[in-house]
Parts: sequence; structure tokens; C-alpha cells
Amino acid sequence: MATSSDKIEDCEVCGKNKAKYTCPKCEVRTCCLECVNIHKKELECDGIRDKTKFIPLKSFTDLDILSDYRFLEEAARTVDQLKRNPLKNYTCEISLPMHLNKLKIAAFKRNITLQFMPQHFSRHQNNTTYFNWKTNELYWKIEWIFPQANCTKWVTKRVLEHTRLSLLIEEILYPTKSIKKKNDIEELSLKICLNEKLQFYQAAGLSRIKVLLKAEKVLKSDLKFYELDITLSLKENLENKTIIEFPTIYIILNDHACMYEIIDTDDEDIIDSKYNSASERRKRKYKQTNMKEETNSTVNYFFNSEFSESDEEKSNKKSKSKWLSNCNIPNYNELVKMKQ
Ligand SMILES: [Zn+2]
Ligand SMILES: [Zn+2]
Repeated sequence: MATSSDKIEDCEVCGKNKAKYTCPKCEVRTCCLECVNIHKKELECDGIRDKTKFIPLKSFTDLDILSDYRFLEEAARTVDQLKRNPLKNYTCEISLPMHLNKLKIAAFKRNITLQFMPQHFSRHQNNTTYFNWKTNELYWKIEWIFPQANCTKWVTKRVLEHTRLSLLIEEILYPTKSIKKKNDIEELSLKICLNEKLQFYQAAGLSRIKVLLKAEKVLKSDLKFYELDITLSLKENLENKTIIEFPTIYIILNDHACMYEIIDTDDEDIIDSKYNSASERRKRKYKQTNMKEETNSTVNYFFNSEFSESDEEKSNKKSKSKWLSNCNIPNYNELVKMKQ
């Protein structure tokens, strides 16, 4: 901490009065509220202390260690809050419910890698893909996107996997032809609306469009697509692909094809190996950190479980709140003792 002698005496904003305050963030010295506000505006400073700012060891004081300690406590509290929040405590380790597991296996047998998102994601909640195990048939939810029609979206809730892709697309391109229940006014109005939006596509016809499946789990997957063959069935088209929840299919006009990066499933090297086994990566990381700790002679007081389990610590445990012990942060008084 700076001593009073090396502090700037006069207000750095107006220069008229003696400085009274120091900004916790930028350390600008000011005399009054007005000057504080001027400095905030001019330096774009929010006046909130930066808790992770670098402090050289020689100017590191007890106050700084207390600040660091409070910062760790805050982090532990946040972690604990997230753990308790059922909306956010999802981890990949949770095993899938029976019906999803069956669906995943069914897809796997068809050479399709089907993956699910955490249970509270809307893409997961709205997924109507369904596997009928009695008939061994998979029904896919499909999201269709028409980028050259203002990115119009259309969803088919359950499509039998054996359906030929061209049939599916025709049904969507000419929606008014495929109305089954004429008395369903809601469906009728939706389809009339879709019909209007897809006029460019109707003019182009099936021969002048390309059907692309959004690639998943490849590097820069946001921009990459697989081209699908509309003469094949949905099942054949999805073979050797990774699907997150359900397929998202882009229908584009041939003239716009240059705007899309179309890749081949055979391009093995484009598949990001990092994604392939997240659990293995985690294991590797864990091993690495363990090895580091073994070779590192300095002791990490904050996260070393041996220290938090010491005898002194155990006697203190009752007074310690639960989240503190979860995160292996020793009691502050113990920590200061250890430091000396
Ligand atoms: Zn001033
Ligand atoms: Zn400031």
C-alpha cells in the first residue's frame, strides 16, 4: 500500500484543492464528488477496485492478502450457488434417462452420432425426435432454414427416417398442396404464410437448390455444411454425421452456394480431435495438474486439501460454513498463521 508521503497532494482533476480521495481502481486523487465524477467520465473509470490487478510482491500487504482471501470466498460462494441451482448444476457425467439412451443407441446403430444438450436447454426440451422400439423406427425432428427467404424457419416434428429427402422438401416448398386437415385453420394460415415467403425457392424448383446439413463437432462448425443428396432417404443422408439433438437443414439457392463452406464426411482431419472425448481430455488435464503438484515444492495453501484437513482445521470445522469446506479454503486466521 502506498504511504501518505508518496501520494499526490493536490486534486488531479481540478488542481485547486488538496486531494482527499483516491480512486480504488485507477488511483486518481480527487478532492470532491464533482471531481470524482469528472474523472469517471473522462477516464471511463467505474471506480470499482480491480480485485485481480497485479501487485508486485514488495508492495503486497496484509490488506491485499485479506482482499485475495475475500475474493476466493466470493468465488467459492458463487460455485456453491451454481451447484445448488438446479438450472445450472448440469454436468456431462449425469447418465441419460432410459428413453434417451435407447434413442442414442438406435442412432449409433445407424452410424449416426447423436448427442444431447443439457436438460434445460430449449433445443433439448423442444426435441420431438422419437424412437419406436417396437417397430425399430426413428422419427426425427427437423429444423429447416431458408437463408434466401429472410432465414425463414420451418419445423417438422416427426419425420420417419425412411422418407426420401426430396419428398420432404417438396412438402415444405409447396406447403398448400400438402394440407391434410382442411379445417385446421391454424395450420392453414401458417402454411399460407410459408408459401408466400418461399416464392424464390418455388421459382427455382428442386433442381436449382442445394440441401445442406449443418456440420457439428468440426473446427469452425458454425460455417461448415455437408451437402445432402435429395434422392436418398433421411437415414442414408444422416449416416456418418454428428447430430446435436436434431438435424438442422439449410436449403439454399444454387447461386448462393459459394457463400457456404461445404465439406465432405471423408475429410477425417477436419474433425476436431479435441471434441472427440471430453472426458479423456479432462482426465489428461487432471493428471497434468497432479504431476505439476508433485514436482512443485511450494505449497498451495488455498487449495491443498492436506492443509485444510489438518488437526487444527478439524476443530474449527464446526464454525466454518459448509461451502468453505467444500472448496478447501482454510479459515483466514489459520491461513495467516501458515504464512508466518
Ligand atoms: Zn478537485
Ligand atoms: Zn478511477
